[in-house]
Amino acid sequence: MGMTITNNPPRPEPKALASALEALTARFGNRLITSQAVREQHGHTTTWLANQPPDGVVMAQETKDIQDVVRICAGSGVPVIAFGTGTSLEGQVNAPAGGICIDLRDMNKVLAVHAEDLDCVIEPGVTRKALNEHLRDQGLFFPIDPGADASLGGMASTRASGTNAVRYGTIRESVLALKVVRGDGEIITTGTRAKKSSAGYDLTHLFIGAEGTLGIISELTIRLRGIPEMIAAGAVSFETVHGACQAVILAIQTGIPVARIELLNAAQVKACNAYSKLTLPETPLLLLEFHGSEIEVAEQSKAFAEIAKDCGGGDFSWTTKPEDRTKLWQARHDAYWSVKALRPGAGVVATDVCVPISRLADCVTETEEDLKRLNLLSPIVGHVGDGNFHCSLLCDVDNADEMARGEEFMHRLVERAQAMGGTCTGEHGIGQGKQKYLQAELGPEALDAMRALKKALDPQNIFNPGKIVPAG
Ligand SMILES: Cc1cc2nc3c(=O)[nH]c(=O)nc-3n(C[C@H](O)[C@H](O)[C@H](O)COP(=O)(O)OP(=O)(O)OC[C@H]3O[C@@H](n4cnc5c(N)ncnc54)[C@H](O)[C@@H]3O)c2cc1C
Repeated sequence: MGMTITNNPPRPEPKALASALEALTARFGNRLITSQAVREQHGHTTTWLANQPPDGVVMAQETKDIQDVVRICAGSGVPVIAFGTGTSLEGQVNAPAGGICIDLRDMNKVLAVHAEDLDCVIEPGVTRKALNEHLRDQGLFFPIDPGADASLGGMASTRASGTNAVRYGTIRESVLALKVVRGDGEIITTGTRAKKSSAGYDLTHLFIGAEGTLGIISELTIRLRGIPEMIAAGAVSFETVHGACQAVILAIQTGIPVARIELLNAAQVKACNAYSKLTLPETPLLLLEFHGSEIEVAEQSKAFAEIAKDCGGGDFSWTTKPEDRTKLWQARHDAYWSVKALRPGAGVVATDVCVPISRLADCVTETEEDLKRLNLLSPIVGHVGDGNFHCSLLCDVDNADEMARGEEFMHRLVERAQAMGGTCTGEHGIGQGKQKYLQAELGPEALDAMRALKKALDPQNIFNPGKIVPAG
């Protein structure tokens, strides 16, 4: 079940597909899987967009596997869709024209850690949790943390971020170089381990956020950080969501180097209380984290407590004890599951927008008003230090009236963010779900440029067709 996607790209000729499947079977044996269940697992599963499974899934183990799949599929004009962990939220891994999914989970080796340079080289299937496990003993960590345990190849391809981005930047700032398998199976190297470079077109950043539409990332060189000496975490409740957002705006504008600053609106706190058996006041809540020396985190916490008070917040309690920090962040970590549990069986649309920080309070407040007006349920959480927030809209997909109101809400949310100088997505990407908003945001000329780039790098349109740029 789910919302049907129209305007799908054409499927390859049945003969061409059969010939590709035959060649892939000969090359990969039982590492090519064509069972219905596995194909469906590799289509989109995370929101109300309908599942569109690929025709087969190849479990890649090394770069040569990716090259061979691409060469075989290119020879028959068959689509190729890269798959990291499948947690993307806008239909990115769907196969609207069928084709072959390359599952990269077994390409999960950390190839080199250069602790002295604060970088490492990894395969694309390494997940952020596995990487941090690997790095911990060396006093290093990788800060980008989308809620899910996503793969680094998938994160680079959706230009992901998460709670720490306010301090450490997004994946865009964290990737130094990529190796990418292009349409003829050859490999493009986009950069080196140097921290900066003026060498030619910035191909690294062309592939970051390309959602697998321009090539398949087979290796990443990424920046690491030293684990901070001290981490302090705190929470504060507000009477109004406007007050909470004002506190965020002031904290950012006055330059308090928060490492995380997350908003949970009243509906989200209520959901977390019910799901995680907590007793938080059911009003808007900010959760914060500070990284630094003992003195620094104490100073930062104190400075923020004053701001929170001025904005109508309650007492700002903070702690550096790891077990207390974990307890404090429990609500945020369980947010997604708590929303799902609010209305079992309903579709959850996790959608995100991002606005310049000065417009955050207006955007969140107007969004809450809109939900009330449309009689819809959608808890809000946000990486608000970046002006980024998520609505988790709950809708009965079989109720046409509710679905229509849900669509109206999402449309108005995006229009509101764009009218405030913001974007239709701060971190989830375009995929299938947000294609209709791209032109209003960037203009037809930008879309023409994207189509020209796609055509230059993927003239056969085999890489993840039907994503990002609407057919021209
Ligand atoms: C509970 C939950 C919370 C989330 N919170 C956040 C959040 O806070 N911030 C955030 O940014 N996102 C968030 N997300 C979304 C998701 O985790 C990110 O989009 C993540 O970057 C996707 O990574 P993945 O490995 O699952 O990629 P996939 O979903 O497997 O793939 C995503 C896209 O990248 C392409 N791709 C994957 N690997 C490669 C490769 N090696 N080369 C080329 N293309 C490739 C795919 O074809 C697809 O188009 C959340 C998702 C969930 C379910």
